[in-house]
Amino acid sequence: MSRRAVAPNPRSPFADADPAYRHIYPQLSLFPDPEPGVLALMACDGVAVIPTEPLEDINPESLPDGLCPACLEAVRAGRPAHRSDGDTVSRTPCRQCESLTSRDGLCVLCRQEAHDQWWSANHDSVPGPAAPAQRDA
Ligand SMILES: [Zn+2]
Ligand SMILES: [Zn+2]
Repeated sequence: MSRRAVAPNPRSPFADADPAYRHIYPQLSLFPDPEPGVLALMACDGVAVIPTEPLEDINPESLPDGLCPACLEAVRAGRPAHRSDGDTVSRTPCRQCESLTSRDGLCVLCRQEAHDQWWSANHDSVPGPAAPAQRDA
């Protein structure tokens, strides 16, 4: 039996999920899948870049190598992990927007914003709409 291996998510200085693993994007029926290149919240509660090639349907009987164990655990449990739950994690104000975050002083939304700028400055062909997103309103 041959085991496939999956490549880790694309790198970003603003991702905080473990860069050694491929993370699983939780399928939320209310939201369309994010575009490749976008920084998104993964099942393990880390943020990682959506890769161009989506994971095929994962067969629990023959999982490919390289998947994030925390993501797998969350998928098996049927709900995303929330590592920021409880009092054990200290929260600090985000240095951009001052909302409390457990992510090293930069919240998910500000990470996504900073990542978008970094990504378009470092990648010539950004998939997705050409018009800048108007999210500041
Ligand atoms: Zn993960
Ligand atoms: Zn923020």
